[in-house]
Amino acid sequence: MIHIEEELWPYIEETVDDQKQQQIEAHLETCAQCFDRYLALLDQWEAPGHLADSFTEATIDKLNVQQVLPQKDGQKTSSSISREVKTISHYLLAAGLTILLMASGIFQGVLHVTDKTNIHSRPSMADSLMQKTDSWLTQLIKGEDQ
Ligand SMILES: [Zn+2]
Repeated sequence: MIHIEEELWPYIEETVDDQKQQQIEAHLETCAQCFDRYLALLDQWEAPGHLADSFTEATIDKLNVQQVLPQKDGQKTSSSISREVKTISHYLLAAGLTILLMASGIFQGVLHVTDKTNIHSRPSMADSLMQKTDSWLTQLIKGEDQ
């Protein structure tokens, strides 16, 4: 049996053509050795986490822009929102919406637009993401109130 371990990485990164992809998948179905190797490579691929983070952040940025642009007094609006909306449930809602957006495939749509803009170093990915999500939702909620 000819093993395809050398080709697993290109396969994961989807840089192989359709024919090669089918060959690899057929082999993985019959070869436990290569399948284990494949799973190990998948773990490595996901481990850094920077892809998912910048992915999410870029999307939130994009959504922010879309929400803020129509109303020119965006800054005033943000500061006049009461503290009450900034509760823990607010953040849970944010998390839920993020998952919802991810599931609906919107993330893929905006990635190409935003992936050049803000990949540079940021102080804290989590904080920054939370702030962006928060201000985005604030705009969203304010918009619904009006
Ligand atoms: Zn094999």
